[in-house]
Amino acid sequence: MTTLYANGWIATCDDEGTEHESGWLLVDGGGIASVGAGSEPAADERVDLAGALVTPGLVNTHHHLYQTLTRARAQQADLFSWLRELYPVWAGIDAEAEYAAARTGLAELALSGCSTVFDHHYVFPRGRTGLVEAEVQAARELGVRLVASRGSMDLGASDGGLPPDELVEDIDSVLADTQRLVAELHETGPGARVQMAVAPCSPFSVTKRLMTESAALARRLGLVLHTHLAETAEEEAYCLELYGATPVEYLTDLGWLGGDVWCAHCVHLSADDTADFAASGTGVAHCPTSNLRLGAGVAPVRDYLDAGVRVGLGVDGSASNERGDLLFEVKQALLVARGRGGASAMTAREALQLGTRGGAGLLGRDDLGSLEPGKRADFAVWRTDGLELGGAIDPVAGIVLSAPHRVDRLVVEGEDVVRGGALVRADEGEIARGHRAQARRFAP
Ligand SMILES: [Zn+2]
Repeated sequence: MTTLYANGWIATCDDEGTEHESGWLLVDGGGIASVGAGSEPAADERVDLAGALVTPGLVNTHHHLYQTLTRARAQQADLFSWLRELYPVWAGIDAEAEYAAARTGLAELALSGCSTVFDHHYVFPRGRTGLVEAEVQAARELGVRLVASRGSMDLGASDGGLPPDELVEDIDSVLADTQRLVAELHETGPGARVQMAVAPCSPFSVTKRLMTESAALARRLGLVLHTHLAETAEEEAYCLELYGATPVEYLTDLGWLGGDVWCAHCVHLSADDTADFAASGTGVAHCPTSNLRLGAGVAPVRDYLDAGVRVGLGVDGSASNERGDLLFEVKQALLVARGRGGASAMTAREALQLGTRGGAGLLGRDDLGSLEPGKRADFAVWRTDGLELGGAIDPVAGIVLSAPHRVDRLVVEGEDVVRGGALVRADEGEIARGHRAQARRFAP
């Protein structure tokens, strides 16, 4: 079955930044057969895009889906105060709540044009099972790709860590459960819809031994590896006191840095840290809205890109970025880069690249992130005939600079996930109602 999506402005996000102003995209099953302009190839079905903009599906590289249950809390708190207030609330999570939260977060992301989501789940209250499985079920039902993670915390407050003792686990359980989930859920090869990553939470909530053993496990199983790093100045002071090293020095000592690793935030990297990230291939999940919300600062992403550091974007959890909208995060990345470095610090197309190619690269997915023959058919269609883009002669700059927008159509593996601005496989109102019922259980 072939489908030709014709009469659109196709922004491929390939290496050359190719765009076809009046172009077409030929999809064969779940993959892209060809992209071009001019005379149209034959296809079983032809869809007229009426001048809409087509981009690759956006890729979210840092999230905590469960946090949709606890939005707008700790409103003036910095990271550590925010965490201390919320850890006890999050201790109430179970599979039912996680499922409702994941449905909500994934639906929001899909409606913002996001086709692939990494979720960093690290709260596993003792005795609660099925949390990661609940996320996976939600992703499969909605039709988006999910890279889930079996995160962890094992450094409780009584050992000098930040989380309460009741929320930390022992190392052997963490590693055994990670292996179980990988065996049950992780798919390999092009087009994989569900994958697993290994993702201990942070230097201030995980012991040195679990950090080391997590990296060894990820490398033995061929999985990507992730953690939070250098989010705030307080974290740096904490690491210096506890480990006698900055967060990046600490990670380097543990043998973490590498092309299979990406770290969330990295707001506070020195020039030497940046060079080490570039040389080792270590990536950064830039989460500008969350960093602004918690007053953590603004990551020097222009410097990272100039140094050759790999960068993708993340909305981060909805307790520190109440809006799970990845196109809006593309705009935020542009705005904060310009706030730091002036009007030429980042173009709209560079920002879009971070939200597509950049993110796919961090997740180790060379089959996603651009619209090229041989890649999977994951793309977003953005209408250009509404109020917000009137007068915009350049739809790529127009869509980024005027974000957020609800995507008109989101296609994953050749199949519609969103059509006409609505979820195809689920009802938005029903998701919201189910979520409200679960969220009430977490209310003060
Ligand atoms: Zn996070």
